[in-house]
Amino acid sequence: AAKADGRNTVVAYTRELADALSHRREMEADLREAARCGRLSLHYQPIVDARTDQVRSYEALMRWNHPEKGMIPPSEFIPIAEQTGLITQLGAWALRQACLDARNWAETISVAVNVSASQFKDAPQLIENVKDALLISGLDPSRLELEVTESLLIVNQEATLDAIRTLRRIGVRFSLDDFGSGYSSLAYIARYPFSKVKIDRSFAEHLTADSTSRSIIEVVCQLALKLGMRVVVEGIETEQQRREIVALGAEQAQGWLFGRPKPIGDLNQSIRRTAA
Ligand code: C2E
Ligand code: MG
Ligand code: MG
Ligand code: MG
Repeated sequence: AAKADGRNTVVAYTRELADALSHRREMEADLREAARCGRLSLHYQPIVDARTDQVRSYEALMRWNHPEKGMIPPSEFIPIAEQTGLITQLGAWALRQACLDARNWAETISVAVNVSASQFKDAPQLIENVKDALLISGLDPSRLELEVTESLLIVNQEATLDAIRTLRRIGVRFSLDDFGSGYSSLAYIARYPFSKVKIDRSFAEHLTADSTSRSIIEVVCQLALKLGMRVVVEGIETEQQRREIVALGAEQAQGWLFGRPKPIGDLNQSIRRTAA
């Protein structure tokens, strides 16, 4: 019986693996199709001055409207895009679309675009795509912020730093996204030319219950101030969280309290250049 059980387990496991693989292949084909047929879109979420609510930038967040499955969150399709190399094409499209959209906003408002570590594997291509997006849109490079995560900084440090420096020379800014969620090191903040540190949402979540979260936010704010960088705290959902992070020295915030990601057409009219 033990033998049969073992065999059944193997059979079940093999089937599970085969199912997962075919699901992934299907998603990959659908995603390719979606990219081709314009079923991907960008939603925008405000990043605000934590004291005044004034919008400083909008973060572009990719959405996939699947014909049968409905809205698929980026946590499901970005990893597939990264593994299959499709991210290069998707990333180039997002850069271009975000810059074109931002061109119509007040000049005081920047646009933040997420860039995967895998896009840095072909750094010359990434640099080319950023330049293209700026050229086509005519957007001032200083209004483009590229959000990268700590995972990028662990691998291939020299090549990554070179690419970041090249884009910095053009005038593009960099933000360290989700700080504190991975193998964080305060050294990263100092070693790379970041304009901004975005403190991961988990710290805001534990603010009231956990004094460690408070201390970390406070220390990162102090370090950022010394290094001339801005701090954004992600995931601010309540008025109390807002008050606390302001007291800890945070300048900017992002979260549902200020606005959820929305399609471009639903953004507040006040950001329009014509209204500004
Ligand atoms: P991220 O860059 O850290 O983006 C912030 C995420 O937090 C967004 O999730 C946003 O909807 C969510 N969020 C914002 N405020 C709150 C809040 O107050 N509470 C809670 N619970 N969540 C909040 P989203 O849109 O699902 O995106 C998830 C991740 O997918 C992003 O995290 C980013 O890493 C990745 N992503 C999204 N768009 C792109 C893209 O165009 N390119 C790449 N490479 N990655 C992308
Ligand atoms: Mg981001
Ligand atoms: Mg983030
Ligand atoms: Mg994230």
